Amino acid sequence: KPHSSRKRLPVIPPGVEEPVFLDALEELRKHLGADNVERNDKPLKDGWYMEHPNTHDMMAIVDDEELVPSAIVYPGSTEEVQQVVLWANRHKIPIFPISMGRNFGYGGAAPRVRGSVVIDLGKRMNKILDISPEDCTCLIEPGVSYFALYNEIKARGYEHLWIDVPDVGGGSVLGNAVDRGVGYTPYGDHWACHSGLEVVLPTGEVIRTGMGALPGNNTWQTFPYGFGPYSDGIFSQSNFGIVTKMGMALMPNPGGYESFMYTFPNEDDLPDLIEIIRPLRISNILENVAQLRHITQTLASRGKPRSAYYTGSGIIPEEAIHAAAAATPVGDCTWIYYGMAYGPPHIRQYKLSIIDAEFKRVAGARRIDPSTLPPDEDFWARDRVAAGVPDIQELRWVNWMPNGAHIAFSPVSPIRGADATRLFALAKRRHDEFGIDIFPVFCVGLREMHLIVEIVFDRADPARRRAALDCLRCMIDDAAAYGYGEYRTHLVLMDQVAGTYNWNDGALMKFNEKLKDALDPNGILAPGRCGIWPKRYRNRGWEM
Ligand code: ADP
Repeated sequence: KPHSSRKRLPVIPPGVEEPVFLDALEELRKHLGADNVERNDKPLKDGWYMEHPNTHDMMAIVDDEELVPSAIVYPGSTEEVQQVVLWANRHKIPIFPISMGRNFGYGGAAPRVRGSVVIDLGKRMNKILDISPEDCTCLIEPGVSYFALYNEIKARGYEHLWIDVPDVGGGSVLGNAVDRGVGYTPYGDHWACHSGLEVVLPTGEVIRTGMGALPGNNTWQTFPYGFGPYSDGIFSQSNFGIVTKMGMALMPNPGGYESFMYTFPNEDDLPDLIEIIRPLRISNILENVAQLRHITQTLASRGKPRSAYYTGSGIIPEEAIHAAAAATPVGDCTWIYYGMAYGPPHIRQYKLSIIDAEFKRVAGARRIDPSTLPPDEDFWARDRVAAGVPDIQELRWVNWMPNGAHIAFSPVSPIRGADATRLFALAKRRHDEFGIDIFPVFCVGLREMHLIVEIVFDRADPARRRAALDCLRCMIDDAAAYGYGEYRTHLVLMDQVAGTYNWNDGALMKFNEKLKDALDPNGILAPGRCGIWPKRYRNRGWEM
């Protein structure tokens, strides 16, 4: 491993002397118990997805020691979270909340400011507080993973309830929703499906949003808005509060489902295909957040390294990809659409026949018969995910490179052929320039697409790490020049991405800074997250 044996210097919060910090940690141990306050002073170990570290970004895109906390603390209740927040204010120590820290590709468990104290909420605050089989809702704490929620619903025998899961199911349901992650059932927009938050503010007060503000209510998880300004938005992709509870809608079991998969032969089938997809998606004939993937990623999803297909240097040649694809059960193609139809057979058939007629307008389109595909084929992992079953097979494409790590370019576009072509072309041009194989996938929301281009890089090779980061920085600027912005990004890119949302002389960021200074006068909560710096840090060289 690249770094586990390296001798480490102690990490301390910025602007605090080490002895003062050690005293402050002693004080915190009195509130939380000695076992629940740990210094980050042992060798950094990467582990793997299910045994991920909370000491650093396991998929480091910069030097491992750059994004590390000084300590990790484990509160067991909302009251203990308040204690940590009050403590941070007393000592002016930056804190950084995570739910479970499996936010891979966007920073994992790492804080933005080196030496912050990470609040790992997930370890002890992992209760499913309620599942309502009547309302089809749940109320959860930060440490509830998709696997845990899924298993609990099964254990209670609620066959009529489904959950929605992202590509990999080990993360926090709450953490993913507040970071506006997506899944692949009709409930794939996680933030849109939440209802009600409990939040510890940066000065230590606790609020409940929406109907949660009304004592004795029984509608916190069914009506998201309550009365007055809708405040939930400021607690997603921000640093304005620590979310300690969240309500979420659960999908009713649709009474049947069927995955389908179409392949399209040519790279330049993309615009026609996207034009076909848009009306079908907006009218809900295509019902889920489906994926339109490039064959390179599907090939990588088989789990073999790229050296199994090509041992030369530079980008893997197209002929090598197509030759390899032709030898798989899917066969040769360039784009693959993975979708699902929901409901009993006659309802599905109605939609599937429209989809079939429309997709086959693209010359050479093929519907792949799932019965021809072996159980470990990517198709079946997509099938589980689109049916709300947590899974981790998706991780396999990280094996494409040795010491594989990933980081994403994630711009949003309308569902239009011209936009898809422009974004794909700019990503491809930059990947060619930096010698990186391209893994694009269009995740089709309702009226927009998230293009997710995962860069898989060798994290033990500083030059390749650098190339990945440079490539990303160029793509973000190229995209912004055309008017496209990222829906989410890695810690080290947050300043750059926030800087692209600069209409009217940066009016939105000025507003965010005003909120930040009002809510967090000592600037202790996740400074710099999403490009929002508190006054104490602003314009002092922290931006990158
Ligand atoms: P996951 O468990 O889904 O992998 P994380 O716990 O890493 O995700 O959450 C993703 C990001 O969202 C974190 O880095 C953090 O900045 C933010 N976040 C997560 N949970 C909370 C929370 N409870 N309160 C405030 N911000 C949070």
